[in-house]
Amino acid sequence: MPKYAKSQGEKVVRSSDISILCGIKPDVIRRDFSHFGDFGVRGRGYDIDKLIVQIRKNLGINRKKNVILIGVGSLGTALLKYQGFRTANFNFIAAFDINPKKIGKKIGETIIYNIKEVNSFIEKNKIKIALLTVPTSETIKIINNLDSKYIKGILNFTSTILPARKNNIYIRNIDLARELEVISFCMNRCNI
Ligand code: NAD
Repeated sequence: MPKYAKSQGEKVVRSSDISILCGIKPDVIRRDFSHFGDFGVRGRGYDIDKLIVQIRKNLGINRKKNVILIGVGSLGTALLKYQGFRTANFNFIAAFDINPKKIGKKIGETIIYNIKEVNSFIEKNKIKIALLTVPTSETIKIINNLDSKYIKGILNFTSTILPARKNNIYIRNIDLARELEVISFCMNRCNI
């Protein structure tokens, strides 16, 4: 949100502005930001540049993070092409697939490797985050095979809902159908 305000040429953003953008009450925003530090000016708002630096620090994205993607099909390819990850400081250092026709090819800057090489790559490059875009039937096999000594975060796009924490790995299950359900719920609630 502060980035959006910055792109609009603003120097300062108020909790009431952020509230309109993200649907969270201003007092909740002020309370949460107060944990970050003291860069709000009463009645004026927050210094956007300072806010961005602090939020990036808190999210652990103030430095570039290398991530890998497993399963380079329709969704995996679209994600590899998305420039927004780079802007957010995430770099797709490698992708992995089982299909011999895809191995060795490149999507943008990212080379596709054989899935058999995934753990040696993770170990060599100390990779901590993986995105999973394989067919749902492959999810558990892949998760069980991943080196949990290094991998600490998984963004799971498959339909298999995984526990939020497994073998000391944080997992986020992403499902756009569920997001549409939320939209539908909100519309129903407001009689839209
Ligand atoms: P796809 O069939 O186009 O791609 C799957 C890719 O995974 C293929 O390239 C295949 O070769 C590869 N693969 C298969 N087994 C593998 C293995 N063991 N190791 C490595 N690679 C392997 O499928 P898609 O349409 O890109 O969908 C991918 C996944 O994303 C599916 O599970 C689908 O249900 C899910 N999906 C989720 C959302 C969402 O909102 N979360 C949206 C669309 C699709």
